[in-house]
Amino acid sequence: MKKTIAIVTAWVASLFIVLTVVVTAILYHGVYEESVKTTMFEELDILSYLYETGNDITTIGGKNGRLTVIRPDGSVEYDSLASTDEMENHSERKEVKDALLMGRGSDERMSNTLSTKQIYEAVLLSDGNVLRLSKNASTVIAFFSMIAGPVVSLVIILLIFVVFIAAKASDYIVAPINALNLDNPDENNVYDEISPLLLKIARQKNEVREEIADKERTRREFEFIISTLSEGLVVLGRGGKILSLNKSAALLLKEDLEDNKPFLAYLKSTEAKDVVLSALEGKDGETSFKVFSKIVELSAYSSGSGGAVVLMRDITEKSERERMRKEFTANVSHELKTPITTIMGFSELLENPEIERSKVTDFAHEINKEALRLRDIVGDIIELSSLDEGYKGESEEIDVKTAVDNEIKKLEHKAQENEVRMENNVPSSIYILGWQKIFSEVVSNLLDNAIRYNKKGGFVRVEANESDGKTVITFRDNGIGIPDESLERIFERFYRVDKSRSRESGGTGLGLSIVKNGVERMGGEVRVESKINEGSVFTLSFPSNP
Ligand code: ADP
Repeated sequence: MKKTIAIVTAWVASLFIVLTVVVTAILYHGVYEESVKTTMFEELDILSYLYETGNDITTIGGKNGRLTVIRPDGSVEYDSLASTDEMENHSERKEVKDALLMGRGSDERMSNTLSTKQIYEAVLLSDGNVLRLSKNASTVIAFFSMIAGPVVSLVIILLIFVVFIAAKASDYIVAPINALNLDNPDENNVYDEISPLLLKIARQKNEVREEIADKERTRREFEFIISTLSEGLVVLGRGGKILSLNKSAALLLKEDLEDNKPFLAYLKSTEAKDVVLSALEGKDGETSFKVFSKIVELSAYSSGSGGAVVLMRDITEKSERERMRKEFTANVSHELKTPITTIMGFSELLENPEIERSKVTDFAHEINKEALRLRDIVGDIIELSSLDEGYKGESEEIDVKTAVDNEIKKLEHKAQENEVRMENNVPSSIYILGWQKIFSEVVSNLLDNAIRYNKKGGFVRVEANESDGKTVITFRDNGIGIPDESLERIFERFYRVDKSRSRESGGTGLGLSIVKNGVERMGGEVRVESKINEGSVFTLSFPSNP
């Protein structure tokens, strides 16, 4: 800008200087010519006076130009420069003609060269002759060439001066512009002409600032959302470059993140790598892989233009549940198959018409026993699945002592058969929140187990207390106890320590699963402690009824 201002100023100034010089020279040349003519006019007056008063003008004739005396017929009587014999008739010359007619005449004619011009002044004398004075005058071109030297020097000096001034002027003009504070454009007070521009810049700056703030807000919101996601979310750019990766993703990968490390480098599973690579190439896909003890499900979606979005979920629990569901189904079929096979076997035997009467009773008894067993298994499965689905409806306040009493009554006969004593030591003021039906089922299963896995003369004692905001109910027996290695597994479906004893005593292998699920459904938890041959303690703890 500075350069442009300097150049334009220099050009304009130079143009004006040259124009001024040319116009001045032309004007001056006109004045110069007029002054030549005036001088000639005056000289001619003096010469004609001298001629009229009888002086010999030939002695002064050629000094101040060329002097000619022309007779009325046009012939030359005297010429200060040329011989009169060789001179042609002058009657047709304009200045002579005018002088003869009007007493005075003048003319100017170009010489053969363009550089000189001849000025003529003529006056009619009293004797009829015409006295003519002529002088050389420079043409404009000649005049220019005459003054060219000093004029060019002057123009050069002026140009240098102009360039210097233009440079300084442009510095002066540009300095405030350079000093503009563009952080706050509208606070500058420089030139009125650039105020609209500064206002526009300020407005645009505000718009850009707002846009950036908007984008930043959106980015923070996005980061907040993805940071709260339980799923791992990874946004990938070209070549698998990580653009965004949330905390859950880092936890699932179980890796320390490094700058600029591509996402693929964190994946150990070849299958997972392939799925991500395909997504980067535009094809969505999903797979699951193992990271230490966890099973991670990975879904990769192409985001177009060489990028991808990867979602990762910890499906360890889901897979475990799936595995248990399959195992449960297999166990159920197995458990149902045994009594059904037995029933089928005995009923086939009964079809034989020659079968002894005493055997018929035995076989019928066996069929009845297995049918009861089937009923128990199916009943327990139905109970478990209703617990799995969840109980609907409002929970109720349960009087623990009464609930235990009710179940004791139902099992009294069995306890007597097994010679086991049941004691209900629960204080009457203990209440818990839950569902009566589930709690009765829990108590019934625990009492039933304590009777079945006991010794003759043994006992089962139920106690309860409230402390630390919890209601704790214990089922203590002095039965056969549970080996340490089985303690962890007794709550699994169909797990039994001693299969034949369980079966003999009418167990289904589902009792403690019902206990665990039921207690958890009511917000509590169950623990077990046991010693072989000494007995077992099942402890249920529930949040205290507020
Ligand atoms: P089951 O129908 O076989 O009794 P449970 O789920 O009720 O199935 O119990 C699982 C296993 O835990 C039983 O087979 C038994 O071996 C053991 N068990 C449960 N309760 C007791 C107890 N009070 N004393 C000793 N062993 C027990």
